[in-house]
Amino acid sequence: MRYWVGIESTAHTFGVSIVSEEGIILADERDVYVPPAGGLQPREVARHHTNVAPDVIKRAFAKAGIGPSEVTGVGVSYGPGLGPCLRVGVSVARALSSYYGWRLFGVNHTVGHVEISRLLSGFSDPLAVYVSGGNTNIVAWKDGRYRIFGETLDIAVGNLLDSFAREVGLQHPGGPKIEKLALEGEKLGLIDLPYSVKGQDVSFSGLLTAAIKVYKSGEKLERVAYSLQETAFAMLAEAAERALVHTRKDSVISAGGVAANSRLNQMLSLVAEDHGVPFFATPIRMAGDNGVMIAAVAMEMDMGGVSPEDPSKLLPTPKLRMSDTDVRWRITGLKLRVK
Ligand code: AMP
Ligand code: MG
Repeated sequence: MRYWVGIESTAHTFGVSIVSEEGIILADERDVYVPPAGGLQPREVARHHTNVAPDVIKRAFAKAGIGPSEVTGVGVSYGPGLGPCLRVGVSVARALSSYYGWRLFGVNHTVGHVEISRLLSGFSDPLAVYVSGGNTNIVAWKDGRYRIFGETLDIAVGNLLDSFAREVGLQHPGGPKIEKLALEGEKLGLIDLPYSVKGQDVSFSGLLTAAIKVYKSGEKLERVAYSLQETAFAMLAEAAERALVHTRKDSVISAGGVAANSRLNQMLSLVAEDHGVPFFATPIRMAGDNGVMIAAVAMEMDMGGVSPEDPSKLLPTPKLRMSDTDVRWRITGLKLRVK
């Protein structure tokens, strides 16, 4: 049996996972940094990752019940992300690869999010709505890459929720707290907020400014949270619908941390239903950053004939884009599952 290790450290999460060639997730260990107040300070997060890395790696091997000599390859998220955080994961992976002789693969974090959702869904070629703290991309596979068929023109939808939460005094991450507040705000009714879909793309910064202004003028937080979510997610659903019609994909998935949101998934499932295709919502645990997606992609790349990196050469790439990465190695017919 062959095994791949995945290391994730692009932002708040230091994660290590081990996946087997049969698609079994043997370990999925994480240590998530929670800032004492405000947003993420890259240096503080990187310090956290450096401190927890040895323990998270040990826990992953203990959970998987295998030893380092049984590992074939290691994947690491080398971008996009916060530079200091990326450097921790990449350094750890380079060291492990050099010392144990594991084959090293640099994994595009955004491709990891889409691939874990696709491999869990069992769909072979879906339209993916990838929504997270730093990214908002509607993507589909075409000619060997995930091409962007819609994206945010300014801030990511997760950033919208986190920034609004910070302004109103809620702790990071804001998404889950706003989802809860929104459930209570529904009965108070929708406030008209800026809705901005431009062609295939969306824009959230005007919405953020307006929502903060409405809250500061005395409107109830629950009602603003509800209106903010409804407006932002309706914009995403509209852009996703356009992309679905345009690409003619036969299924839809949501991916990334914001895909943990039930209301967003409900709206996207309605879009899919209207077009007669199935929808898959990524389970919460696999929606946020994790090592599993990195191990799974490393396995796909290795099996797909990608040459391993020279451990002394792989560098963090903070501004990597989804469409920068060749994804000809996609596996179909393999369904990931937990041991
Ligand atoms: P990621 O960047 O993929 O790790 O995802 C983190 C982002 O997901 C943050 O912006 C969170 O606020 C957001 N998030 C997590 N859970 C939820 C939720 N239930 N609803 C909306 N956003 C969420
Ligand atoms: Mg992420």
